[in-house]
Amino acid sequence: GVTIGQIFDLTVKKYPDQEALFDVRKNKRMTYKDWQEEVNGLANAFRDAGIKKGDLISTYLFNTGELATAYFACAKIGAVFNPINFRLTSEETAFILEDAQPKIVLFEEATSPVVTSIENRFPYISFWYIDEHTPAFAQNYYDKTAAAPRTPISIEVEETDLYAIMYTSGTTGRPKGVMHSHRDMAEQSLLCITSTGITSKDRGLITAPMFHCAELHCAFLPRVHAGASNVVLHQFQPKKVLELIESEKISILFAAPTMWNMMLQEELAEHDVSSLRLGLYGAAPMAPALVRACREKLGAALVQAYGMTEMGPAITFLSNDDQIRKAGSAGQAALNHDIRIVKPNEEGPSEPDDILPPYEPGEIIVQGPCIMSGYYKREEATQKALYKGWYHSGDIGYLDEEGFLFVKDRVDDMIISGGENIYPREVEDTLYEHEGVLDTAVIGEPHDRWGESVTAIVVRKDPALTEAELDEFCKNSSKLANFKRPRRYIFMDALPRNASGKILKFQLRKELETVYS
Ligand code: AMP
Ligand code: MG
Repeated sequence: GVTIGQIFDLTVKKYPDQEALFDVRKNKRMTYKDWQEEVNGLANAFRDAGIKKGDLISTYLFNTGELATAYFACAKIGAVFNPINFRLTSEETAFILEDAQPKIVLFEEATSPVVTSIENRFPYISFWYIDEHTPAFAQNYYDKTAAAPRTPISIEVEETDLYAIMYTSGTTGRPKGVMHSHRDMAEQSLLCITSTGITSKDRGLITAPMFHCAELHCAFLPRVHAGASNVVLHQFQPKKVLELIESEKISILFAAPTMWNMMLQEELAEHDVSSLRLGLYGAAPMAPALVRACREKLGAALVQAYGMTEMGPAITFLSNDDQIRKAGSAGQAALNHDIRIVKPNEEGPSEPDDILPPYEPGEIIVQGPCIMSGYYKREEATQKALYKGWYHSGDIGYLDEEGFLFVKDRVDDMIISGGENIYPREVEDTLYEHEGVLDTAVIGEPHDRWGESVTAIVVRKDPALTEAELDEFCKNSSKLANFKRPRRYIFMDALPRNASGKILKFQLRKELETVYS
């Protein structure tokens, strides 16, 4: 079998002089051959620091060349790569460090305040700093790698060995560490290559956070696998993305729907984005109106991926050809994957054999080669999630007769009003059709008579837009039954989202309780 470290070396052998990485922040370009030396140097530095097979190494980094290098250096020595969300607070980060127990944590200037505030609780962790002016408690990454040999390391790593632990974004509850093997990631990478047609001629731009599996495993890894080039943007800024597409002749990039939306608000006429052949989107639902706008205004093909960290992440793809014909769908099952829609069970995990007919919404469950092996140190949660050999997603959706998946919502976000199930996403999609709506989230609020009632939080493009206008618009929409119409509108300047672009609905609900009631 092939490990992630071997995938890297095979690419270097085939494309030694191809540009591998351009780190915009440090203005540093490397060919695959140059990069291999860095990867080997870091792998040796980890070994010199006492890292053994199975030890965890965490990154608390924005998008950086060092994160990319650490990803492959860990693979080579059989260390477990654990990227941490840089948006987390001190306490949330401390929770993950306590749970994961890494030996080394890489950090940078931008994440230094959080690390500085908690480092004294972790005397057994060695903190490595990738920028200048290393804090007193830390060591410098470049001093470490300069002292290490750059020779290849030979250590037995199996494809079934644990390779990555990624903490789920935690839009609800405490984060859990999702465990994946080398093989899970190698399979995922192949799926993304076949679904997006990446070749060594592609130039990719990294815009979404690399700690999240969507960017890391659906965009970055497949490009390295195929020998393509990667431009690393430290943090997403819509204008900067458009500038880089033009100056770096970017042909492919992944972005969450909210990021595409922000790009479309820029002065597009000022940028030549003709090099962009494909935009990959996913991680959250994208309203059909926004899909249309992307295709028309950016002139690029679009491919959607749906999945979760636990799934590897992508398990369905919607091709460019199907974007209009199957608007609102997340696509068909990825190769070698099996999807079922089963009857949700209030008492415990749904039964994999309680299969529902086409068009009937139920819980999405999956089998496939990229599914996690389990949650780190969470035996009970693992057994529930992988009940009877099927990964239970907690997402509600249905399949049509051609096997296209339509994701409706998280089980937890579903609104029950007057005994009727309402999927917030349907209401959000309708509101997005209104020109004056920039962003929206729909939630259920407690209601004496109906149990819950539908409330829409709207970010306006045009401040003159009124509640009455939106209500009229929904009344006239052929797509929205009357009982699904929002009964209350709240206007906000921005919606709370996590770093991977998902709306934090539990936070919205909490805010509404305290601010508006
Ligand atoms: P994460 O584990 O952070 O990747 O979050 C996974 C969740 O994101 C899923 O359970 C879905 O609710 C949502 N999600 C991911 N991709 C899509 C998509 N293409 N359409 C709708 N929801 C999505
Ligand atoms: Mg597997």
